[in-house]
Amino acid sequence: MVDAGLFPGSIAAVLGLMIGSFLNVVIYRLPKDESVVFPRSHCTVCGVLINWYHNIPVLSYFMLRGKCAKCHTKFSIRYPLVEFLNGGLWFWAFYQYPLPEALLFIVMASTLIVISFIDIDYMVIPLLFILIAAVAIIVYYFFAPHQWVLAMWGVLTGVCYLGGVYLLTRGMFKKETMGMGDLQLIAVLGAWLGPLNVAATIFAGSLVTLIAFGIATLLSGKTEDRALPFGPFLAFTGIAFYMLNLDWNSIIALVN
Ligand SMILES: [Zn+2]
Repeated sequence: MVDAGLFPGSIAAVLGLMIGSFLNVVIYRLPKDESVVFPRSHCTVCGVLINWYHNIPVLSYFMLRGKCAKCHTKFSIRYPLVEFLNGGLWFWAFYQYPLPEALLFIVMASTLIVISFIDIDYMVIPLLFILIAAVAIIVYYFFAPHQWVLAMWGVLTGVCYLGGVYLLTRGMFKKETMGMGDLQLIAVLGAWLGPLNVAATIFAGSLVTLIAFGIATLLSGKTEDRALPFGPFLAFTGIAFYMLNLDWNSIIALVN
């Protein structure tokens, strides 16, 4: 018997790979105020257009061996990574969840991918993508009104917890440890994940960030001020906890 979710999942994966290509364009061009529609995909160094047969997500990168066909400039491994990540998450959504939840999941996943990579490049989280996520969540809960209360608790928990971490670390390190964008991000993550998963996200996300910070400091051997974008850690830990769908009631009962 073939798994019932495989067929919709596979179609979603193909669409997700294609949308992933578009997300690369958004990540690259939007912070520079360039159009995301025109011009067509081109090499950012020599300007040569990328042929249609080189516009296949992930595969093109390997067909071209990661280089521009004309000037041989190396393309970042990030392009196929974003496409693969988006395709994979879209597959998971339609493989795993019923329709309305799957739609919310793909909007959240793609938006969080864009937020993460723009944060990595520019250390800023554009409000536009926070708003896209917020609108998607509001539309979703409009059709699932019984989940509203949990969502509001999620927002409250996320903002209070992360706000507390912010005040504490700012006091400890005597500098800004995160931005407004991180608090906005945790608000939408809280609405999507609910109070327990968003708390777990902040805890695990902070831990992973600290470890990454430690490794970065060890590798470079410098102790000067270092800034790491916090957004990607929160975003991807949040997606992971949503996918894990841990049964917190049993876990809490186990501990007690
Ligand atoms: Zn080129």
